[in-house]
Amino acid sequence: MTALPDKLTGFNRVEFEDTCRRRFFFGLAFDPYGGTAGLYDLGPPMCAMKANMLSFWRQHFVLEENMCEVDTTCLTPEEVFIASGHVTRFNDVMVRDTVSGECIRADKYIEEFCETKLKDPKITPEDIDTFKKLHNAAGSFNKDELAAVIAKYSLKSPKGNALSEPFPFNLMFSSKIGPEGHKTGYLRPELAQGIILNFKRLMDSGNAQRMPFAGACIGNAFRNEIAPRAALIRVREFTLAEIEHFVNPSQKAHAKFDRIKDVQFHAWTRALQSANKEPEVMTIGDAVANKLVDNETLGYFIARTQLFLAACGAKYVRFRQHHLNEMAHYAQDCWDAELLTSYGWVECVGIADRSAYDLTCHSKGSGKELSAREEFAEPVMVRTLQRTINKAAAGKAFGKNNAAVVAHINNLSEEECVALGEQLQSGEVEITLPTGTVKLSSAIVQFTFKDEKVSGRNYIPSVIEPSFGIGRVLYSILEQSYWIRRDDTGKNDKRAVYSLSPLMAPQKVAILPLMVKPELEPLMISLRDELVVLGISNRTDDSGAAIGKKYARVDELGVPFCITLDFAGDGCVTLRERDSAKQVRVPREAVCGVVQALCRTVNPRDWASVEAEFPAQGSSE
Ligand code: AMP
Repeated sequence: MTALPDKLTGFNRVEFEDTCRRRFFFGLAFDPYGGTAGLYDLGPPMCAMKANMLSFWRQHFVLEENMCEVDTTCLTPEEVFIASGHVTRFNDVMVRDTVSGECIRADKYIEEFCETKLKDPKITPEDIDTFKKLHNAAGSFNKDELAAVIAKYSLKSPKGNALSEPFPFNLMFSSKIGPEGHKTGYLRPELAQGIILNFKRLMDSGNAQRMPFAGACIGNAFRNEIAPRAALIRVREFTLAEIEHFVNPSQKAHAKFDRIKDVQFHAWTRALQSANKEPEVMTIGDAVANKLVDNETLGYFIARTQLFLAACGAKYVRFRQHHLNEMAHYAQDCWDAELLTSYGWVECVGIADRSAYDLTCHSKGSGKELSAREEFAEPVMVRTLQRTINKAAAGKAFGKNNAAVVAHINNLSEEECVALGEQLQSGEVEITLPTGTVKLSSAIVQFTFKDEKVSGRNYIPSVIEPSFGIGRVLYSILEQSYWIRRDDTGKNDKRAVYSLSPLMAPQKVAILPLMVKPELEPLMISLRDELVVLGISNRTDDSGAAIGKKYARVDELGVPFCITLDFAGDGCVTLRERDSAKQVRVPREAVCGVVQALCRTVNPRDWASVEAEFPAQGSSE
C-alpha cells in the first residue's frame, strides 16, 4: 500500500477553486442574492460525478449484499427524535464572542489553535506532543473539558474579545407540520432513523431475505452547522448514503468475511492516536483477529468501504478509530474513513456498531415490539422468573397506590426480585414509592422460577451503520485528482487536469474534430449515436479552437479519453488518454468498443493493453 502523505503536495487551492468556479463544478446556492453560507449547488460536472458515485454505491453495496433500499422522508415528527435522543443530544458545543456575539464551534476552534501552535517554527518537542494530542482529542471533549482548555490557554475570539462559557447548540432545523402549528417536526440530520423505523416492515414484508440483512437509503440530511466552511466539507444540507445492517447481537460473524480478510487498510487505532503515532497498514483479517476492530461485520464494512473508495479513485484514505469517550454511550466500536484534502484529513464515512440502541429506543418510544426471532437448532430449557401478585389482596392493602406498587414490582430486575423474595420470607418489607410508603408481604407477592422448554427467542437486533457523506467524498476525490500540466515550452503553465477515474469522470470520452469541416460531421454524429446506445456519456467540441485547446478544456473536466477525427482517410480515428496524453490510431469500427472496455466499472481494460494493440500516434503534448 502506498504510504500516506501528511498533506497534498503541490496543491494550489486558489487555482483549484478557480477551475471549479470557471467550469461550474459547484457554487454557493442563490448566487445572485449573494449566496447563503453552507448551502451549495452542484453544477453539471459534479452532478454527473455524483450520479456515477451513487450508481456505483448501489452496485457495490445494495446489489452485492441484496440490501433493501428505501426512500424515506426528510421531515420527521418530533417523537422520533425524542425517542432516539437527538432532541436532547444532537448538539455541538458553542462559544460566543462576548462583544460581537459571533458564534464559534468550540472543538474546531481549539483544533485551529493547535494547528497554529504546531506551525510555530520555535515550538518545543514537548509542545509538539501536547498540541498534537490536544488536536486529536478536542473532538471528543465535553462542555466542561472544552471550558478547561479555553481557560488554560486564555483563548480569545478571532476579534480578540473574551469568550462566553461553552454551551450546547442543537443542530437540527425545526419546523411545524400542518397549518395549526401543533406538531413539531425536524428536518432529519441523518438517515438512520428512517431506515431503522422500517425494520419490521422490511422483515415482515418478505423484502429482506432473513436476518442478518441491511436497509439502505440515499437522501439529503440537514444540520444547522455553527461554522459552515471549507467548500462542500461542512455544509448545512448534504447527501448521505447510509446502510443499517441488522444483526443478531450474539452473532456478529459475517458470512462473506473470508472474501475480504486480506484487504489492507491504513488503521489509526485509538492506541496509535493516543501515542501520537502514525496509522499502520494491516489486513482487516488481522485487525479483527487481534480485536482492534470489534467484530467481523464491522470489519467487513470497513474493508468494503476501503474497496469502494479505492475504486472511486481516492488515493489517500485512512481509517480512524473513535476514542472511547468520543463514541456515543451505546456504541460498541466506531471507525471513520478519512480522506486527505488541502484542509487536512476529513471524515467522509462513519462506520459504527450502534448496538441495539436505536431499535430499543423506538420500541420504548412507539410501544411497538421491534424485535427479530431466532429459532434454536434444538429446543433448550430456560428458567424464567414468575412474579405473582395476589390482585384482590393487593387492591385491599394498597388502594390508590396499587398501580404504582404493581409497576414497581414489574420493573425490578431479576436479582432485585430474588433479594426481595428472600426478605419477604422473614416478614413484611417496607418500600417507598413516589405516592407513599407501603408494606409488602409474601401473601401479596411471590417470586418463583419456572423451567420451560423453548424453541427460540425474540431479540432486538444490533445495527452496524456505514454512513457515506457523498459531498465530502466527491470533494476530496476532486482535490486529490487535481494537478497542473506544465508544457515543454513553459508558455502555458496553467492547464488544470482532474485525473478522475473513468468510473467517476463526468463524461467518459470527448469527440473532437481536428478542424471545423462539414465533412467530419456525419462521423461525429455516428460516433455519438453509437456511444449513446452503449450508455457511454460523452461530449463534443466542434468549435474552431485549436486541438490543444480542446484537449485542455476536457482535461479540466476530468474526461479520461478523447476521440479525434481527421481527414487521413485510413478509416481510423485517434484515441487519446488524458494523463499521459499518449495517442493511438484505432479503426473507426473498433473505437467505441475499446472505450467501453476502458470504462467498465468492474475490471476495466488498462491503457497499456490498448497501446500494445494499436499503433502509436505520438503524444498530443
Ligand atoms: P455523522 O453522522 O456525524 O457521523 O456523519 C455521517 C457523515 O456525514 C460524515 O462521515 C460526513 O461524511 C457527513 N457529514 C456530516 N456532517 C456534514 C456536513 N456538515 N457537511 C457535509 N457532510 C457532512
